[in-house]
Amino acid sequence: MEWSRCTCVTAAVLLLLLPRPCSPAGDKLTHGESMLPGDTIVSDGGAFVLGFFAPSEATPARQYVGIWYSNTTVTVQTVVWVANRDAPVIVDGRSGNSSSAPSLALANGGSNLVLSDASGRVVWTTNITGATSAGTAGSTAAVLRNDGNLVILSPDGATLWRSFDHPTDTLIPGMKVGRRYRPQDGVDGWRIVSWKGPGDPSPGSFSYGMDPNTSLQLLLWNGTRIYWRTSAWTGYMTAGKYHGTTGTVIYLTVIDNDEEIYSSFSVADGAPPTRYVVTYAGKFQLLSWNRNASAWATLESWPSRACSTYGSCGAYGYCDHSQAVATCKCLDGFEPASQGEWSRGMFSRGCRRSQALAPCGGSGGGEGDAFLAMSNMKVPDKFVLLGNMISDDECAAACRRNCPCVAYAYASLRSSSAKGDNARCLVWTGELVDAQMIGAIWGVAAETLNLRVPAGFTGKKSGTKTVKILLPVLASVLIVTCIVLLWFCKCRAKGKRRSSGSEKKLVPGSVRTSSELEEGNPTEDLEFPSIQFSDIAVATNNFSSACMIGRGGFGKVYKGTLLGGREVAVKRLGKDSEQGIEEFKNEAILISKLQHRNLVRLLGCCTEGAERLLIYEYLANKGLDAVLFDNERKSLLDWPTRFGIIKGVARGLLYLHQDSRLTVIHRDVKASNVLLDAEMRPKIADFGMAKIFGENQQKANTKRVVGTYGYIAPEYQIEGIFSVKSDVYSFGILVLEIVSGVRISSTDDIMGSPGLVAYAWKLWKEGNASDLVDTSIVESCALDEVLLSIHVGLLCVQDDPSGRPLMSSVVSILENGIVSLPAPDQPAYFADRNCKVKGDDVQSSRNSITMTVLQGR
Ligand code: ATP
Repeated sequence: MEWSRCTCVTAAVLLLLLPRPCSPAGDKLTHGESMLPGDTIVSDGGAFVLGFFAPSEATPARQYVGIWYSNTTVTVQTVVWVANRDAPVIVDGRSGNSSSAPSLALANGGSNLVLSDASGRVVWTTNITGATSAGTAGSTAAVLRNDGNLVILSPDGATLWRSFDHPTDTLIPGMKVGRRYRPQDGVDGWRIVSWKGPGDPSPGSFSYGMDPNTSLQLLLWNGTRIYWRTSAWTGYMTAGKYHGTTGTVIYLTVIDNDEEIYSSFSVADGAPPTRYVVTYAGKFQLLSWNRNASAWATLESWPSRACSTYGSCGAYGYCDHSQAVATCKCLDGFEPASQGEWSRGMFSRGCRRSQALAPCGGSGGGEGDAFLAMSNMKVPDKFVLLGNMISDDECAAACRRNCPCVAYAYASLRSSSAKGDNARCLVWTGELVDAQMIGAIWGVAAETLNLRVPAGFTGKKSGTKTVKILLPVLASVLIVTCIVLLWFCKCRAKGKRRSSGSEKKLVPGSVRTSSELEEGNPTEDLEFPSIQFSDIAVATNNFSSACMIGRGGFGKVYKGTLLGGREVAVKRLGKDSEQGIEEFKNEAILISKLQHRNLVRLLGCCTEGAERLLIYEYLANKGLDAVLFDNERKSLLDWPTRFGIIKGVARGLLYLHQDSRLTVIHRDVKASNVLLDAEMRPKIADFGMAKIFGENQQKANTKRVVGTYGYIAPEYQIEGIFSVKSDVYSFGILVLEIVSGVRISSTDDIMGSPGLVAYAWKLWKEGNASDLVDTSIVESCALDEVLLSIHVGLLCVQDDPSGRPLMSSVVSILENGIVSLPAPDQPAYFADRNCKVKGDDVQSSRNSITMTVLQGR
C-alpha cells in the first residue's frame, strides 16, 4: 500500500476513520511518524526497502521488521537484516485499527527507534543511551541508505546508530566482520548469526566472526564449537576474484587501524547484488543475483567438502584438496596413529611422528633439527604470532630456539604495515590441527608450512624404514619389467615372422581409413605387438565367465593377467557381434596412433583364424556409467572427482580433435565409453566408430549415422553431418549426466520435464541450475565449478553447431573458470527427442540405448 507523507486523511478513512500517527514516506522515518504493517520506506536510489514482513507463509500473522532488496533489483524477497529477530509481533489482520497494530517509531524523545506490539509493549529498540537531547529530538530521523544501511541521524547529522553495526545472518557490501579494539556505541565487533530455520529469523546455532584468540582468522561456529575456519590472513589488503557465473568481481578488503580490525567486501559499480550469508544449515555462502535467471547463484560455499570441516583429519593430519578426491593425509614426517582406522576412513585419532624429535632439555635440545616445507597450505589453527621478524630465516631460528616449537610459517606483511609490523611469523608449540592443502584461493591464502623434523630426516618415513620398504619394491619392479620386456620382444619377433604369412598386422604412418587393414594390404611395421591367441587364452583362464567383466556392441570383455602380472582388458569380437570387422580394424588402427593420458591405451591385438581380440590396459573402475548411475556406488564420485572426470574427458577430446597428429571425430562419446582407472581418472575408449578427417576438412556427411541415442547431435541425426561439433554435443550431454547423475536415456519424468536436457534448461532459466546437482554429492560441491560445468554443458548442447564451443575453449573455461561466457540458447533438440527417426536401423549396442543408422541426405 502506498502512503504519502502525512496524508493522514486517506489513512484514517482506510482505518475506519480512527486517527493514526502519520506514516513514513520516501527513505525516512522522522520523529512523530509511525510505521505500521504494510508501510514501507524505500532507500533513495530504490535498492532497499524497510518494512514489516512475515518470513513464513504458514504463520502470516507473526511479523518482523526487516530490510530487503526492492523488487526492482531482486525479484525474490530476500531479507538482509531483521530488527526483532527473536521477538515477532503479531499482526491481527482483522482489526484494521492502528491503535491495536504493532508500530515502529522514533520514541524516547526521538532518540531511539522502538518497535511496539499491538498492546504498546516495547519488543525491540535500538537502545541508544544519552545520544540526543530531547530539545532537538524533533529533527532526528531514521534513514534507509541505498547501500541497505538503516541509520539514525541526530539533528546535526551525526550518526547515532547503524544497522550495519548490528548484523543478522547476512553481509552486504560495506558491512564488517571483525572487532573493535575499544567498544564504541556499545559495539565491540561484528559477527553474523544464522536464522534458526527458513521461516524463523531467530538466532540459529551457526555464527561467523573473528577468532577471539587472534585477529588473523575468521571462524564459523556451530554453537560454541568451531565448525570451519578461514585461512590465516597472510597480509593482503585487497584481494579480488572473478566469478564467471554472474560475471561478478568480488573484492575482499582487510582494514587494521588503531580502532578496529575487520574484513569487508565490495563489488564493482553496476555489479549484481551480492551477499554473504550463514545459512541455518551451517554453510557460509557467497551469493550473487543472476539477472538472466532471476535467482540467486551460489558462487562459493564453505565448508566445501567433508574433510574441510574443522579438525576432521585429527591432530597432525590435513585435508588434501589438491587431489581429485579431497582426503585426509598425514603431514610430512607423520603417520596415522591407527593405520587400521585410517584405512577405514576414520581420521579422528590423527597422526603421530614417524621419527621422534630429540627431547627438549636433552642434549641437542632440538637445535640441530631441520624444517620440512609443505607448500600450498592453509596453516593449522592454534598458532602464536611473533612480531618483528624480518625474514623467513629469523622466523625459523625463533622456532628452532624454542624447543617445543613444532612448525612455523612466515609471511611478509609489506602491503599492510599500518601497525608497524612488516612481517608475520606464526609458530606452533602444540598439536597441529585443521591444516589443509588448498592451492591458491583468491590467489593469496595458500602458504608454506615448515614442519620441524629431526636432523637428517629426508622423507615421510625414517631412513631405515624407507630402505626396508623400498628395496624389495624396487627389486620386484625390476624383475617384472624384465619379464614384460622379454615377453614383448618375443611377441614382436613372432609378429615379424608372421608378416610374410597370412597374419594381418597394423599399419602406422599415413593411415586415413580403416581400409589399410583390408585383406592383402601390405604391412611393414607395428606400433603395438600382435599377441598370440594362446597367450590371451591363458591370461583369461580360457575366457572363463569368471574373468568376464563386461559386454558391449563389440562382444564380451574379459579381465586377463599376462605373464609378468600385468592386468589387461581383452575385447573379443563376438560371432554374433553387432559391430563388425570394420570397427575392429578402425579401432586398432586409430588407437594405435593416439597416445594421451585421457585415452585408453591399446597394448596389442590378435587376429588368428576367426578370432579378433583387442588387448587394452585394464582400468580398475571400468565404465563411468557403472558408477555414475548406480545408487550404491555413485557417492564414490564426489564433486571434485566428477569435475576431474569432466576436465579429463575434455582434454582427451581436445587431443583427438586438435592436438594429435590426426583430427579424429570419436562419434560415440558417452558415459560407458569413459573408463575410470583406480584413482577415478577418466580415459576415453571405444574408437570403433571414430573417423579421421583430412587436414582442412571441417565436416563430413554420412548415410550411416552411428552413435547412441540421446548423445547424437541434431544435425548429425537428421542430416548425417558430423564434425568436431557433434562430439562437442555428446560431451555436453555427458557433462549434464555427470553433474546430475541422471542418464540421458532415462525415460522417467524428471521433476515434470520430459528429459535431462529439458530439465537442465528449465532450472537454468529459473536460476536454480544448482538444483541439477546429484543429491548424493551436494556435500562435496564447489558451486562455482558446478555452475560453470552446467553452463558449459548447455553451451555444448545448443542446436546450432556454430554456437557450440570448440574443445579448446571448453578446456580453457574449465581449467581457468574465469572467462565471461555467453548465455546458452535454448536447446531445441530435447523437444525433438522422440521425433521419428528416418532410415534403417542397422546396428544396436548392448546399451539400453539404440545405436541407429539413419538415412542421410
Ligand atoms: P557399446 O559397445 O554399446 O558402446 P560399451 O562401451 O559398454 O557399449 P565395451 O566398450 O565393449 O562396450 O565395454 C563393455 C564393458 O567392459 C565396459 O562398460 C567396461 O565395464 C568394461 N571394459 C571395457 N574396456 C575396459 C578396460 N580397458 N578396462 C576395464 N574394463 C573395461
